[in-house]
Amino acid sequence: MFFLLLLFRSPPPKLRNADKWSDSFNDFISKCLIKDFENRPFSADLLSHPFIQQVPQDTTQESIVEQLSLRYVQDEIYTYIGDILLAVNPFISLPIYSEEHTKRYMHSRKSDNPPHIFAVADHAYQMMMHNKRNQCIVISGESGAGKTESANLLVQQLTQLGKAPNRTLEDRILQMNPLMEAFGNAKTIINDNSSRFGKYLEMFFTASSGTVVGAKITEYLLEKSRVINQAPGEQNFHIFYYIHDGLMASDREAEYHLKPNTYYNARESEYGGEACKIDDTRLITIVSELLGLDYTDVLESLTTTGMVAKGEVIIRENSVREAQDARDAMAKALYGRLFSWIVNRVSSLLKPARVDSSQDDCYTVGLLDIFGFENLKTNSFEQLCINIANEQIQYYFNQHIFAWELEEYRNEGVDAAEVTYIDNRPILDMFLSKPVGLLALLDEESHFPRATVTTLVEKLNHNINSPIYIRLKSNSSTFCIDHFAGKIDYSAEGFLEKNRDRLPMEIMNIMRMSDNKVVKHLFQTPLTRTGNLQNSSSMNSINSSRAGSPMSTSGTMGRSGSHNSVNVTSYNSRSSSMGGSKHASGSASMTRMQQTVATYFRYSLMDLLNKMVAGTPHFVRCIKPNDQKEPGNLVSERVTTQLRYTGVLETTRIRRQGYSHRINFSDFLKRYHVLGFRHDEAVSVKAESCQRLLENIGLTNWALGKSKVFLKYYHVEYLAQAYEAMC
Ligand code: ADP
Ligand code: MG
Repeated sequence: MFFLLLLFRSPPPKLRNADKWSDSFNDFISKCLIKDFENRPFSADLLSHPFIQQVPQDTTQESIVEQLSLRYVQDEIYTYIGDILLAVNPFISLPIYSEEHTKRYMHSRKSDNPPHIFAVADHAYQMMMHNKRNQCIVISGESGAGKTESANLLVQQLTQLGKAPNRTLEDRILQMNPLMEAFGNAKTIINDNSSRFGKYLEMFFTASSGTVVGAKITEYLLEKSRVINQAPGEQNFHIFYYIHDGLMASDREAEYHLKPNTYYNARESEYGGEACKIDDTRLITIVSELLGLDYTDVLESLTTTGMVAKGEVIIRENSVREAQDARDAMAKALYGRLFSWIVNRVSSLLKPARVDSSQDDCYTVGLLDIFGFENLKTNSFEQLCINIANEQIQYYFNQHIFAWELEEYRNEGVDAAEVTYIDNRPILDMFLSKPVGLLALLDEESHFPRATVTTLVEKLNHNINSPIYIRLKSNSSTFCIDHFAGKIDYSAEGFLEKNRDRLPMEIMNIMRMSDNKVVKHLFQTPLTRTGNLQNSSSMNSINSSRAGSPMSTSGTMGRSGSHNSVNVTSYNSRSSSMGGSKHASGSASMTRMQQTVATYFRYSLMDLLNKMVAGTPHFVRCIKPNDQKEPGNLVSERVTTQLRYTGVLETTRIRRQGYSHRINFSDFLKRYHVLGFRHDEAVSVKAESCQRLLENIGLTNWALGKSKVFLKYYHVEYLAQAYEAMC
């Protein structure tokens, strides 16, 4: 022990022995990043950590792209920019995720190996154990850039680091991916396996030994409209094709009524008429049978609507359009709830036993894999939500990397060159502020039954006064937003309906009385707040159930003489046969205000941010090298755009000039006393003591503020390793 103390009181060997270190460093550079930097003069301190210092003072975006390109053609897809990992999608399977790689990146210094996604997992894990804090890995990038693959690789490495006590848990954590992807992913124009939901996976590790003991998944914003409609060239969720193609031929037809080579899409009967009639009632028979519902219930829930007027319930027939909307709402609600149910079931299987009893027992590493920024030919409400979520993630990134850091320098009186960055706060304000933010205005308009796409866009044009919102004169149903990632035109067609996301009470009620246990359960259980977006309106609908309502006392209702009034008596008898009054709970009014998707979306974002800020963040920036999914082809303009809007260049600058870690004097001295002083030496909590400690260890290039020690991230890595070697 005494010997070790001596060792650490003198400068650490690697810093003293610059020549030896520079050899291995140059070797490292040649493997990893910028080759023509090898001949530049480096100071010993610079040599102590490779990446940020490799970027010279005159770094430009072009030089970064050039180097990324050079590396990419040699299958070197990973590059550090400071402590941020850039991952360029290889679009080909590379031999860099073997067991040997897993081992190589465990408990190693970042600088000992070429950049790798496994190193990020290792770093997060080590920081969690060393600092005793939750960690959060934020994976961002455009759709198809490689986020989900990266998340899966991180999980793979983290389960190894967490020494899963048995294969079962590790297998379970890894095996949930195909299941989640079957139900939540689909082929889009951009990505054959595009995640159509956001996922936050928390992995739990014991505080004492760092053993992985479980996991929890939270899903965000499933794009359930895909169930009823897909853009040209796109597909429905994978699971439909798996079922269709994977079932035994006999089961396929006999049990599920699926025919081979059939194009499954609803044939729309004519629009226009007020009343509707279902052409092919065999389909109602099939749906009723598969969902455990009564034939008449299904038929009438799709074709009629109940309303309360002057205390009486009126049943009227739906128009063709209303019936189609009811059918679509039913499909979306069923799928969305099923997805939430699967996620909850998976989460409960992975749930760590000890987390309930004592949170303190565990730390977590959270992985955020959220759908990337999207700019399609036609951008609708789904793209708007996805892109707002990305704005929020970018804001969090900016806050973490730039704003908080610069503010802290100012408060502590530490000199750091001003770093400018593009603050996207005005964009978020434009979307989220009240009462004239875009989402608030959309909500307001959604509550007007007579609102149309034109009135909505007029409202937005009239009320939003921001350079970020661009009015488009040519078309009354579109508008443009100047996002952090570029300008995007949105078509407001369908915004109101999608935002209202109404599930007719008639459908809600019959589903709750299904003979099929799962279907019944899906529509009865209270739903989690962060589940997919259909839950919101449905939850409210539960309280405005119609079945068994005062209808039973009424006579014939509806617009008398009108062809769309229906015989209520038959409806009543159906209601009571379904279990009647136990489900009744008041008004049948559909005009009652329901929570909108936009409101719910805001909650989800808040929930997500709360989770993220509770941990120390790590960032993985996935880059899409080209739009053709071609290996070996890095298109400079595409990459430049992605680097520009994600602030990578500014990140380089602040990481080179700034101090990514700030620790107050007391914590610093407590934690690292052993590295710089005799074990019995009392030191007072003040700047001079910290200075002595840092000098005793032999570190340079740090700074002292009024109350904190300012360290570069490579200092922290060094300190952590020295500490572990000691203790
Ligand atoms: P995102 O989640 O960002 O939309 P994905 O992670 O689904 O993108 O990646 C899209 C496709 O790119 C994957 O299906 C895979 O073919 C390819 N890909 C991404 N990352 C890698 C990787 N590290 N190695 C090999 N192929 C990859
Ligand atoms: Mg994905």
